[in-house]
Amino acid sequence: MSACIFCKILKKEIPSQILFENENVFAIRDIQPQSKEHVLIIPKKHYSTLHEAESYGELENLSKFWLSAALEVSKQLKIDFSGYRLVINQGENGGQTVFHLHLHLLGGERLSGKFV
Ligand code: AMP
Ligand code: ZN
Repeated sequence: MSACIFCKILKKEIPSQILFENENVFAIRDIQPQSKEHVLIIPKKHYSTLHEAESYGELENLSKFWLSAALEVSKQLKIDFSGYRLVINQGENGGQTVFHLHLHLLGGERLSGKFV
């Protein structure tokens, strides 16, 4: 997807510091952090939403490597024991603004609120 900001970061057309990368995903710090640590875990394949990923039969595979990568990043940031929150903003009412599927990892401090 040429216009997609995360695809551009992956192709190095936009500079960004990659915190973690493997064949399936890459992770970057969110440009507008909502907590001390705020990282985006982004599948390399462009799927706009969870439902698009499902329509390509990718959901099971994606779930595995996506969560594993999140746990790996939490260890790298040394917040695996203190805890963190994983969030997917799905679609318009979920507050999704970038339509390239991604998982937010938030931590590094006690998070206020629970769900909204
Ligand atoms: P969402 O609202 O769930 O779609 O999340 C999109 C996130 O991407 C937001 O938290 C933005 O701050 C973040 N974001 C947008 N552009 C960039 C960028 N160039 N580098 C890092 N994070 C970005
Ligand atoms: Zn993309």
